[in-house]
Amino acid sequence: MIAAEGISKSFGDTEVLKDIVLAVDRKDVVCVIGPSGSGKTTLLRCLALLETPSAGRVTMEGQVIGDGTNGPAVRRAAAKVRPDIGMVFQHFNLWPHMTVLQNLIEAPVLVRKVPRKDAIERAMELLEKVGLADKRDAYPAHLSGGQQQRVAIARALAMTPKIILFDEATSALDPELRHEVLQVMRQLAHEGMTMLVVTHEMGFARGVGSRVVFMDQGRIVEDGDPKDFFSAPRTERAARFLQQLQ
Ligand code: ATP
Repeated sequence: MIAAEGISKSFGDTEVLKDIVLAVDRKDVVCVIGPSGSGKTTLLRCLALLETPSAGRVTMEGQVIGDGTNGPAVRRAAAKVRPDIGMVFQHFNLWPHMTVLQNLIEAPVLVRKVPRKDAIERAMELLEKVGLADKRDAYPAHLSGGQQQRVAIARALAMTPKIILFDEATSALDPELRHEVLQVMRQLAHEGMTMLVVTHEMGFARGVGSRVVFMDQGRIVEDGDPKDFFSAPRTERAARFLQQLQ
């Protein structure tokens, strides 16, 4: 579906991603974990086309959508697939001046050209799904963090994306609010949504992930089955990381 083909990324003299090779297949739930500063968010932002790789390419269904040259053909391909890549951010990023319903229908109507009536119908279905149909006319500031993040997930789904990228979606939430967001993410995974999840939630990675990718110092150090990774990591670096969590 989406792939990083030998991506490197530098900010100034600092190389934060080093030759990353990662392919996310349909219905994969890839959980990216690793110590702070290891490059997880930067990798996700390269896949989301929010950062341009310094070297290597991002492809979607075989087509190059991001590379260091950022030439017109790549930009055109990127513009075409961008609506297919959903994003859920750590800080929700809802539009504060719009109601919940308006947040959900804005992009489908403007970008996908969905008729307003159909967009509202679909938005209400999605709000039911995340348990927030009664909040359709509320503004984000009047919702809890967990509710805002569930709206953000519904907003991503409203574009009928092929993949959703979650960037530490629960990190800004109190523990009791994390649960409700993780529950929605778990449900999406069970329904077969293709997901790449940058997370510090090891329980989610272990229980819901189809794959775990462990990063350290800008490289992918392990990429494999979550059960194997958590019970018997292959590298000393991963073993040390897991030990520190206990
Ligand atoms: P965390 O778990 O703490 O969020 P992370 O694994 O997601 O960390 P990144 O946010 O990808 O790590 O950051 C990797 C490195 O790149 C860090 O050293 C960070 O300071 C640096 N970095 C990230 N974005 C930028 C930027 N826009 N300009 C300069 N340096 C950056």
